[in-house]
Amino acid sequence: MRILVTGGAGFIGSHYVRTLLAGGYPGYEDTRVTVLDKLTYAGHLSNLPTDHPRLDFVRGDICDLPLLLDLLPGHDAVVHFAAESHVDRSIEAAADFVRTNVGGTQSVLEACLRTGIERVVHVSTDEVYGSIAEGSWTETWPLEPNTPYAASKAGSDLVARSYVRTHGLDLSITRCSNNYGPYQHPEKLIPLFITNLLAGETVPLYGDGGNIREWLHVDDHCRAIHTVLTLGRAGEIYNIGGGNEQTNRQITDRLLELCGADASMIRWVADRKGHDLRYSIDESKIREELGYTPHISFEEGLRSTVAWYRDNPGWWKSIKHEQAAA
Ligand code: NAD
Repeated sequence: MRILVTGGAGFIGSHYVRTLLAGGYPGYEDTRVTVLDKLTYAGHLSNLPTDHPRLDFVRGDICDLPLLLDLLPGHDAVVHFAAESHVDRSIEAAADFVRTNVGGTQSVLEACLRTGIERVVHVSTDEVYGSIAEGSWTETWPLEPNTPYAASKAGSDLVARSYVRTHGLDLSITRCSNNYGPYQHPEKLIPLFITNLLAGETVPLYGDGGNIREWLHVDDHCRAIHTVLTLGRAGEIYNIGGGNEQTNRQITDRLLELCGADASMIRWVADRKGHDLRYSIDESKIREELGYTPHISFEEGLRSTVAWYRDNPGWWKSIKHEQAAA
């Protein structure tokens, strides 16, 4: 088995690759992996075991169709993570999001089709559904994205659907809630707050801190993606949640405790434009149809994540340094 992973040097893609190469998915211990990644500001080779004998790394752009056509033959499956992923950046510079998330996804799927790839998973997000005041989204909920990031992911989901319906590509879509865990870029809420607190700096909390998100440990997300890759049906969408809703203020308070700080370290900042109030996923389909359940409780996951950042200052300090210099 040989799998091509796009965006495999980023947060979630690299977790998937490290787990796959470490034999974390039974029956796939011999899988060979090719990572295709542009190494934008969000991708780092330090996230990957680059000298692993079953890993090939290719630096390249998913919008580059000739490169994909050259690279894909010999692979059995593609797991497509590559994307511009930070909502705040999409508010400032939406064009990169449309280019990579919509155009790049189309190139990946076109290349999969032309080279006869047998199975594809397109990794998407719950943000495509917009915001929900009460109840939870099922997979049939209308797409009502509110930010350029979410809109570009919704666009990519529709392109993916069209490649199934028009061309019969064997592809499934996953839509997951917010992830956290090791190796997440320190621009995202949980690692930003942890690394600021570990460095003795304040944490910027949007609005009144009342926005609600559902959080899932990256290891559970990756196991769900692998489950969909191996057991999911073509043309189907699978929500991945975890049932763990928290306000940003609740997360902040827990992180302050875990880092030995108090509420005086909160810096209140003006709310994000178009800030969705609440996300909530109904994940009964993946549980009932594919037998997936999350394993890591939020408390255990958050504790181990704080410990990872505490134990790996070299990793996040160099990224923060790069970011400050950019
Ligand atoms: P990330 O920003 O950490 O990583 C993205 C990776 O894609 C980086 O390595 C980057 O270099 C690469 N990349 C970007 N543009 C590229 C291009 N044009 N060609 C090739 N590579 C390119 O993102 P992440 O948090 O790991 O998210 C991965 C996927 O999961 C995304 O599709 C995202 O929409 C989705 N997702 C993320 C979350 C979350 O909470 N982080 C939740 C649900 C779904």
